[in-house]
This record gives sequence, C-alpha cells and structure tokens, in this order.
Amino acid sequence: MTDPTLPILRSVEAMRAQTRAWRAAGLTVGFAPTMGALHAGHASLITALAARCDRVVASVFVNPTQFAPGEDFDSYPRDEAGDVAVIARAGGAAVFAPPSEALYPENEATRISVAGPALELESAARPHFFTGVATVVAKLLIAVEPDEAAFGEKDYQQLLVVRRLVRDLCLATHILACPTARDPDGLALSSRNAYLDASARAIAPALHRAITDCAQAVTAGDTPRAAERAAVDAILASGFDAVDYVAVRDAETLAAVPDTALEREGRVLAAARLGGVRLIDNVAAPAP
Ligand code: AMP
Repeated sequence: MTDPTLPILRSVEAMRAQTRAWRAAGLTVGFAPTMGALHAGHASLITALAARCDRVVASVFVNPTQFAPGEDFDSYPRDEAGDVAVIARAGGAAVFAPPSEALYPENEATRISVAGPALELESAARPHFFTGVATVVAKLLIAVEPDEAAFGEKDYQQLLVVRRLVRDLCLATHILACPTARDPDGLALSSRNAYLDASARAIAPALHRAITDCAQAVTAGDTPRAAERAAVDAILASGFDAVDYVAVRDAETLAAVPDTALEREGRVLAAARLGGVRLIDNVAAPAP
C-alpha cells in the first residue's frame, strides 16, 4: 500500500538517527542502494528485504564518482517522485536521497579502491567505475548502518566487489544477492534501457540469448574460449555495434578459467554496445 508519508531523509545525520531509533525499538533494517529511475528490478530488491527485515530503506543517489567525464551523469534519468512511489509500493519505510555535498563534502579526499574481483571486465572500459562504486557504497553503508543490504545479480561484478569491500573493511552488514529481473523477451531491466530506440530495443534481447547459449555450451562440456567466440559472433550478427567482452569466469572469484571443461561453477558475463547504449548482462554456468 502506498504510504503518502514515506519520509525522505536528506542528511547522513537524519538517516543514521532513523536507523538507530528503529534499532532501539528492536527492529531490523534492510537497505537497497540505487541511482533512481526505479524499475521492477529495483523493486524486487526492496520486496526481498521487506520479507527479511522489519524496516527497509532505499537510497536514490546518482553517484558522480562512478561516472567518467563524457559518460551520462548529467543526462542519467531522474524522477524522484516516481521513485518514492515505487519504493512505497514495494514495502520501503524511508528514502535516503542526500544531496551530493552530504556524501562528498567540500575538500573530500578519500577513495576506496578494490582489486580482486574489480579487475578487468567492466574495469577495462570503465577504469574509474569500481572505485566510485566502492567509495559510495562504503559511505552509504556507514550512513545507513543496515543489518542487510541487497544488490542485484544484474551487476554481478559489482556484487562481488561489494562483498569483498564489506569483508575487507569489517563492515557489519550482510549482503543479499537478488536475481536479475528481466522483460519477457529476456532483456535485463536497466534504467539505461530507456535510451534504446525501437529498433535497438528489438535487437537487445540477443545479448541474453547469446550468453545463455554460451552457458549451456560450457555446461555441456564445450571449452570456454570456443563458447565465448560463438557468443561474440551471435551478438554481432544480431545487430549490436560492438562487443566489449564475453567472458566465462569463476562464479565466486571472477578469476579467468582455463580452456578446459569447467570444474567449478562458472559465470558468463558480457558487455556490448547498441545504438550508443552500453548493455551488460550475465548468467550462471553450472559445471558439467
Ligand atoms: P542502479 O540504480 O542501476 O545503480 O542499481 C541499483 C541496484 O539495483 C543494484 O544492486 C543493481 O544490481 C540492482 N538492479 C538493477 N537492475 C536490476 C535488475 N534488472 N534485476 C535485479 N536487480 C537490478
């Protein structure tokens, strides 16, 4: 049910006071960080948390440090009223929507850089990206102090980076992974899908089809490099402009796997460009 009184907290102090008041009342707190332009994928994180925690906070913050100059920070879709309605409907109890200065005060000089799962893949095309993500996620978790925070498998490399960050910084929050919400034709929901025109939207599901075929091939015992090449060919043949990567990796560490039948659970991750939009997706590849 929509709660018209859903509070919107604008400062770290107000956010922290809210969490501490809940906790003092014996309530547990779940947290879903987002950049807004919310869709059913974001809502699924809030719903999953609402089933596990007494109160759920979602943040709406377009994080400047994870965009490079020339990326879409200025044009990133923003719709706070629509976002608050989605959060309320999904079972959220509060919205954390701080201005940029609340998380990045004047003369701020601190960044958090993660190696391990942050290396390669997304970092090849966006070398600034995971330092921005790790920095803002650490700030958000310190501000909100949640018992649990939910992240989507849609951004699988990000999920592993966040898990490593939380472990390495001894943060007390449990990280909950949520499955990727998709349109019926397989396209992973993304705020950036709004940039696809009709012809690009018709081509876009080919990315998910190709990595699903790739995963099935390696699970059937095909070698990873041949399966990756077949996926790249299929994505390009379907009308994508370029493929940044299709990679079969270890599902737990994202380490490269040898070109032999998988011995442990794998993950197929891909990024490709279509009509000026960069789409990412990934699927599980169980070992044969
Ligand atoms: P974003 O607003 O894109 O930064 O995403 C905020 C959170 O929502 C991240 O944990 C994402 O992984 C998650 N998310 C985005 N799209 C989806 C999706 N289609 N299914 C599940 N989770 C998603």
